[in-house]
Amino acid sequence: MKSIGKVHPRISKLRNLPIFIPFTRLRADTYESVRRYSPILVPLLDDYAYSRYFIKRWKEKKTFLNVEHDMVVTPGAIEALRDCRAPWCSIYYGPPGVKEIRGFMGCMKFSREFIAAHPRIWFKMKWGELDRILPRAATCALHVHADLVAHNRRET
Ligand SMILES: [Zn+2]
Repeated sequence: MKSIGKVHPRISKLRNLPIFIPFTRLRADTYESVRRYSPILVPLLDDYAYSRYFIKRWKEKKTFLNVEHDMVVTPGAIEALRDCRAPWCSIYYGPPGVKEIRGFMGCMKFSREFIAAHPRIWFKMKWGELDRILPRAATCALHVHADLVAHNRRET
């Protein structure tokens, strides 16, 4: 885990963790892996739509889980993220031993506390820039659930 400053105080336990799937090409097995949680599907129609999507989530100021369109989430992972009291979490899906947080947005929980503490992270930017901006802007450490697996189907 890459630490960037202090960890925020623990958040209160969540009863519900809304799932959003922003997508250009949604994989059937991605949708199937979280279907029982009634995910909200958000089509991304241009290169800037992913940043607009985050700006919208930030305006809502509510905890949510971001699941990218090619992630297949392991059973139990959603519950683990929901029950975790860290304000900013991700499921690790990179190769073994890699500590960089870049790319972990594929299955990442943003709590309302994290959102409130970082009100101005997002601006209009191309989709590929978001995972560079986020770790630089974050003032707390990302909690990485390395014991859980989400599969990034881009690699297969
Ligand atoms: Zn966590």
